[in-house]
Amino acid sequence: MEVQNYSPRVLVVEDEKIVAMDIKRRIESFQYTVLGITDSGEKAIELAAKLHPDIIIMDIILSGDMDGIEAASIIGKNYDIPFIFLTASSDDVSLQRAKLSGPHGYIIKPFEARDLKSALDIALHNSTVERKLKESELWLQATLTSIRDAVITTDMQQRIMFMNPAAESFFGLSEEEYKDVAIHEVYKVEPDTTNESLIAHFSSADKVDIVRARILKNNAGEQFYIEESVSLIKDRYHKEHGFVYTFRDITQRRKAELQVLASRDFYLSLFEDFPTPVWRSNAEGEFNYFNNTWLKFTGRNLENEIFQGWTESIKETDRQRFLDTFAYALRNKSRFEIEFELLSRDGVYRWVICIGTPLFALEGEFKGFIGACIDISHMITAQNELIRAKNAAESANLAKVRFLSNMSHEVRTPLNGIIGILSLLNDTKLDGSQAEYVNMAQMAAHTLLGLLNNLLDISKIESKRDTASYTEENLHAVVSEILLPFEYQAKIKRVRLLKEFSFAEDLKVHVDKNKLQQIIGNLLSNAVKFTDYGEVAVQLSYEKNNHQLRTDVIHLVVKDSGIGIAPENHALIFESFVQVDNSNTRKFNGAGLGLAIVKNITEALGGSIWLNSELGKGSEFHVVIPVMKNKTNRNKANKMQGEILL
Ligand code: ADP
Repeated sequence: MEVQNYSPRVLVVEDEKIVAMDIKRRIESFQYTVLGITDSGEKAIELAAKLHPDIIIMDIILSGDMDGIEAASIIGKNYDIPFIFLTASSDDVSLQRAKLSGPHGYIIKPFEARDLKSALDIALHNSTVERKLKESELWLQATLTSIRDAVITTDMQQRIMFMNPAAESFFGLSEEEYKDVAIHEVYKVEPDTTNESLIAHFSSADKVDIVRARILKNNAGEQFYIEESVSLIKDRYHKEHGFVYTFRDITQRRKAELQVLASRDFYLSLFEDFPTPVWRSNAEGEFNYFNNTWLKFTGRNLENEIFQGWTESIKETDRQRFLDTFAYALRNKSRFEIEFELLSRDGVYRWVICIGTPLFALEGEFKGFIGACIDISHMITAQNELIRAKNAAESANLAKVRFLSNMSHEVRTPLNGIIGILSLLNDTKLDGSQAEYVNMAQMAAHTLLGLLNNLLDISKIESKRDTASYTEENLHAVVSEILLPFEYQAKIKRVRLLKEFSFAEDLKVHVDKNKLQQIIGNLLSNAVKFTDYGEVAVQLSYEKNNHQLRTDVIHLVVKDSGIGIAPENHALIFESFVQVDNSNTRKFNGAGLGLAIVKNITEALGGSIWLNSELGKGSEFHVVIPVMKNKTNRNKANKMQGEILL
């Protein structure tokens, strides 16, 4: 709408005032606007710069130094304003000069109003078209310059007409070097057969468009991978004018692709002969790949195995379990691991462990599973063998324990008889040497009894058949009872035995009386045995809420001033049948069982044992065991530890 109402603005340059006024009147009669009238070239230039008229009507002969032709050419050059000349028909020379300045029209004087209007309209129209053309050329130029793809146009004979800067720099050619040169002189291509996705597409009949993968060789012999497109240039009347070749250098991308392909081939071949049967499934759970090793293992061919075919080789009793596991993993896209028997090529079922891992593409899309079935038959056989051996050993051990407990019972009965008779004998009147013999016999009998008890304990512990049994006991009485025989032994050795109890005499606790006495007895027996001078002390304290065990505990310390233990043997002495100095064996009785028993019992009761000792300076054995003050606590502790097996 605005365009229709638009009234072109005209500058009139005419030195004859009457003519100028006549032109103005005529122009205004067809609704154009006269911006100004001037009679000299210099003023015309000034007004053009100031007013920017849409068009100038310029007389050739003007007053002043400059004529219209000169003024028009300056204005044309500087302000891009169209103009038409006014001239007398007789002035041929001026007309000739005027033509050279590129006007948009002429009006020969004298003229009619309609001549003036059509000259102005044509000039305005042509200048608009010209401007638009210039603009679109500018756009095209900018586009062709900025794109990184090489663009080449040729005529129908394939002679190069144009190259954009990308093409020029790719080939290193300037316009003079390529203009009118046949394209194949600078641009030799062959199909890129390494590219699996050769793209070729022909569009509608009136326009050919081909995109293809090519290898380009330049004149220097260098090779490039390119993606090339060729289009036929046709005008709107279907006349063919030439071709546009566009190509993109994809060498870097192609090389990376080729490397990926090469590594894919490498991994595929690796998979094929990987020494484990390998399979793959797609996202639908259809098995679509089995490696060579698989086919060798099952002795079947790919056609038999694909889809769910191979699952027929799973032992019937295992098959549904596998199918369920696989269906679950497929639903959850999760890893699975399952053992089953699979028919091998020699017709024998073999145990395999089948592991499947979900595969995801880079974008996270689920692609299916990759898996392996590893033959574990030999492991299963070995495992069965081990279980059998373990069972055999356990039943042999059980027999041994039964035998030992029977035997010790059998031996203990007469031994207790002997000990009783010796003690009776000791109460009779004996002379000095008789009393000494009886003492020696008594000590030997006690040692034998101790050894028997230890043997029985260790075999019970090793067969894990000993259980803890808690009863409410007076702690003072339990400990004093076990100390009795040692008081006697210490007296004989002239070693002082000290009792240091730091708890109330009537304190009652829930303990396993026998176990506690075994611990104290063994430690004390060693302390007396390995001490010839000085003293042995039994310290016992009751600690409330021990911070490590978080319950009440008994803390026992058996201290002696005996031979001591070298630091390197501190850990060793707790092992069964270990006596740290063989030369001791002859001097000191024992079988190396006492401390192993003590450690086992202590730990099974939930306690701990440690020692401080220095060679030649004596030893200090510490034992901490939890105790229960009442039934509720005891039940709690039993729950915590489960059934206490010693
Ligand atoms: P044994 O029946 O031989 O005493 P133990 O297991 O009770 O067996 O002790 C193992 C070894 O630890 C002993 O042979 C001895 O060498 C050393 N030992 C144990 N207690 C003491 C101690 N209080 N003083 C010195 N050495 C000790």
